Amino acid sequence: MTRTLKIAHLYGNLMNTYGDNGNLLMLEYEAKQQDVNVETELVSVGDEFDPNKYDLVFFGGGQDYEQKIVARDIQLKKEALTSYIENYGVTIGICGGFQLLGKYYINAAGERLEGIGALDHYTLNQDNNRFIGDIVIENERFGQTYYGYENHNGRTFLGENTQALGKVVTGFGNNGEDQTEGVMYKNTFGSYFHGPLLVRNDQLTKEIVALAIQNMDARLAKENQTTEA
Ligand code: GLN
Repeated sequence: MTRTLKIAHLYGNLMNTYGDNGNLLMLEYEAKQQDVNVETELVSVGDEFDPNKYDLVFFGGGQDYEQKIVARDIQLKKEALTSYIENYGVTIGICGGFQLLGKYYINAAGERLEGIGALDHYTLNQDNNRFIGDIVIENERFGQTYYGYENHNGRTFLGENTQALGKVVTGFGNNGEDQTEGVMYKNTFGSYFHGPLLVRNDQLTKEIVALAIQNMDARLAKENQTTEA
């Protein structure tokens, strides 16, 4: 029987700048290569997030206006999302999504938006400037090089307990200062790479889908046990 990988598209109707949704098509493509079906569910404002239901959470980027709405609502999902992340749930946060997985984000207007603090990074703004352009990073955990495009006002600083997704070879990365780009913590990945993150970096897609398939198999085994008991 074909297995089904369950994806939660977190605030997919609000957070989808520069075609971040393309990452979902890429995840689906890669899962199909491995004979796995994909079911994607939108989890947005007012919805509950069930941490036991999904094998992957995708959280795209957004403009400050949408991000403000999301920052308010996500506080209600904070515990559930944090426990999902702590239990090795696979999560991808792009740009605005990446920012809100951390402690807080100071937007371009200087307002402080609370994140969920599941990861210990924080994001400051910068005056009249954005980090825009092509970017190349090197990832140590998988020994891979990733190519992408970034466009953000936020300057993110990582905390003690996480690693960068990669070391910047060219481009700005998290803050234009410390050569870090993105974040990795357990099975959670954050990045400023927009739309093409997974499409341009199929090796990363393969790593992430492999992790999600492992979690799917564990979930299915658990669900079978419960039905048999
Ligand atoms: N609004 C955030 C920033 O400018 C995130 C932007 C984005 O997701 N591209 O830093």
